[in-house]
Amino acid sequence: MEEDRRSHAIALLSSPGLGHLIPLAELARRLAQDHHFTVTLITQSVGPISDVEQNLIDSIPKDINVVPLSPPSPSSISDGLELGPLIFLTINHNIPRVRAILQSLATSSVSPLAAVVVDLFCVGAFSIAEEIGVPPYMLYTSPCMMLSFCLYLPTIDAMYQAEYKDLTEPLCLPGCVPLHGRDFPDPLHHGRDSEPYKGILWLVSQFPRAKGILVNTFQELEPGVIKALKDDATVPAIYPVGPLIRSCTPGPTNGGDCLAWLDKQNRGSVLFVSFGSGGTLSGKQLNEVAWGLEMSGHPFLWVVKSPNDHDAAGTFFTVQSKTDPLAFLPQGFLERTKDSALTVPSWAPQIEILSHESTGGFLTHCGWNSALESMVNGVPLIVWPLYAEQRTNTVLLADDVKVALRPRADENGLVTKEEVSRVIKCLMEGVEGKRLRAKMATVSNQSSHATSTTGSSSESLCEIVLEWKNNK
Ligand code: UDP
Repeated sequence: MEEDRRSHAIALLSSPGLGHLIPLAELARRLAQDHHFTVTLITQSVGPISDVEQNLIDSIPKDINVVPLSPPSPSSISDGLELGPLIFLTINHNIPRVRAILQSLATSSVSPLAAVVVDLFCVGAFSIAEEIGVPPYMLYTSPCMMLSFCLYLPTIDAMYQAEYKDLTEPLCLPGCVPLHGRDFPDPLHHGRDSEPYKGILWLVSQFPRAKGILVNTFQELEPGVIKALKDDATVPAIYPVGPLIRSCTPGPTNGGDCLAWLDKQNRGSVLFVSFGSGGTLSGKQLNEVAWGLEMSGHPFLWVVKSPNDHDAAGTFFTVQSKTDPLAFLPQGFLERTKDSALTVPSWAPQIEILSHESTGGFLTHCGWNSALESMVNGVPLIVWPLYAEQRTNTVLLADDVKVALRPRADENGLVTKEEVSRVIKCLMEGVEGKRLRAKMATVSNQSSHATSTTGSSSESLCEIVLEWKNNK
């Protein structure tokens, strides 16, 4: 009976980086546990994996076959290689291994492969899926607004000659709020002739080869753009299946301390501050944030990373800072704030913190997992994008869904302590904060409904599951 139920197999291919592995692992779990697929999850890393990532892999249910690929040798990586090129280098290095794994799964007589689902950076594997006669799909780990941007990028590229940051008119994608050039994703701010730009342009040009695109979003969050994409005959079938988030935080945690401290705070009083697994601020900006938090007079729980003046994604692959982050805080800061704040180095149990009743706001870099986790828990946001597609995410959350405030940077790109303090007060005590909180409560309800048995995301997942099971 059990053998019969698991008569279909799925292979999932994740890109390097925790933010990609989390939704892929969650999709793997749902396909194995709720839909009885035999699931193989192939994971990639650019170097030795972090404790947090290892912990996440260890926590994946044992009925999922996890295949971690070895990273490229350090000698093949040139010094100072940026995030995007490093990801592409790793993925290209692994292509022969991915081919061998997929070929072997495709010829299995036990449960033949019904689909290959790849993360957005791994579209190079579409050709392998096509070679072995298995339909290729994509899990898009950011919102549909961003997916729409990617799908229209070749057109956008042909439309404009100027650098995007200099565009005078915002871009109006079907079903989306206007998007200014300055809020386009990071790699597009490199020159048009740069390798990162050309790499992204090639990447998105491959998206239409997918037989379908699963998206880590939900119908009620982005109804306009989802409809627009579904109505566009040139776009592959779209399946909003989110939020695909974990129910608890992976990793070596100082969880006990954080949660015990939150237990002592008033309901909804604490601002949680974290820039994700990878986000790092410049030394000057870290200083302003510290002063601003202190000036706001609100309790806060801050996950601090050591500053990095050159790379806003300074701990993307390592998660932990190499030097003690607390050593970079203004003199006397820890002592002055010890009665009203908790400052922890590098990593904290985010999901448990966001679901704690004392947490009333989240200052986030706007990585899409963090945004979804906050929505599920009904915590309104201060959005502070640092890299990748985070600026575009903030436009969706601040201008469209209206659950977030955006601090204003000065002419040098610095968010001053006064501005940090102002925006915190606005969220935690102002009328606007109340409005955002109420809207976030609605979004939270919608997100739980979406993943309930009869919800929109569950139905979307069932639809694609049926397609895979009927695909002889
Ligand atoms: N995270 C966490 N504790 C931390 C920092 C991050 O648990 O101190 C988790 C967070 O809950 C989220 C993920 O790491 O699930 C970060 O993903 P996201 O897409 O938000 O950002 P990225 O780190 O990929 O930029």
